[in-house]
Amino acid sequence: MAEKVIIIGSGPAGLTAGLYTARADLKPLLLEGYQAGGQLMLTTEVENFPGYPEGRMGPDLIADIRQQAKRFGARLITKDVTRVNLSKRPFQIEVGKESYETESVILSTGASARLLGLENEKRLMGKGVTTCATCDGAFFRGMEVAMVGGGDSALEEAIFLTRFVKKVSVIHRRDQLRASKIMQERAKKNEKISFVWNSIIEDVLGDKEVTGIRLKNVKTGHVQNFSCSGLFVAIGHTPNTTLFKGQIDLDKNGYILTHEGSSTNIPGVFACGDVQDHTYRQAITAAGSGCMAALDCERYLQSLEG
Ligand code: NAP
Repeated sequence: MAEKVIIIGSGPAGLTAGLYTARADLKPLLLEGYQAGGQLMLTTEVENFPGYPEGRMGPDLIADIRQQAKRFGARLITKDVTRVNLSKRPFQIEVGKESYETESVILSTGASARLLGLENEKRLMGKGVTTCATCDGAFFRGMEVAMVGGGDSALEEAIFLTRFVKKVSVIHRRDQLRASKIMQERAKKNEKISFVWNSIIEDVLGDKEVTGIRLKNVKTGHVQNFSCSGLFVAIGHTPNTTLFKGQIDLDKNGYILTHEGSSTNIPGVFACGDVQDHTYRQAITAAGSGCMAALDCERYLQSLEG
């Protein structure tokens, strides 16, 4: 028999969709993936999720929502979806050799922050290297940090960081920013922000935590060690939509297009969280959109019965 709803992805969006659909007695099957929990698993203290006045570690927050979804009967499978067929109902979802049929699907596969791809960047992730100024900025109070990237995210986050830090050096690989004019003006006006142009990061320095970065000027070839206590990486995100490409409407950057809440162009297929949102990208907005997707899905299934 076909499932009523399958949820793919297990960040705050997918888990909240799981919680709500479970409470609606839809017995959701949540395919959470091997790297369950999404981007919150990469963060330390989450201080801006309502309901946790003392803050909560990212992985603990995920464990809480997961537990809550399970309490109401969500079934979780910790494996990756390998193929989906959204061309006809019931939809078909494959997990390796297992195949599931479902009346509806909620896509919540999230987005992954792009990284520079350096060995030490990975090693020092959460120990000075971070991809989220909103989450981690306050830990760098009074310090000097570097921000890599030249887009709106890099500048917006650099401006945000100036609330806490002594200085932000924006490292950009060209001598022209990609960010919008208004953001550029705001950043250039801010006395705590300076720019290092035409430079790439060759290495992240530090034993137990970040102490600096090695910079190479791509015009002159000059290499120098640059001292900083944190490295913020804001070189864009990649939505995790490879599985759905060619089957569902995506925008030019690969994010799922939603309308009227969480609906996609395919009736019965809903999307929530960062896989369809490159603007807000917060745990709480992801959770909120997971709730919307669950309610939209519930109404859709009711309309099939009606
Ligand atoms: P983005 O616009 O794609 O910018 C990414 C930046 O990272 C670019 O400057 C790029 O350099 C640089 N970069 C990429 N790969 C790199 C690498 N391997 N090494 C060094 N630098 C690298 O991404 P985004 O800033 O995340 O913005 C995404 C979208 O959201 C944009 O449409 C943006 O306008 C929007 N957004 C809007 C706001 C706002 O309006 N408040 C805030 C945030 C984001 P190059 O310039 O040389 O390619």
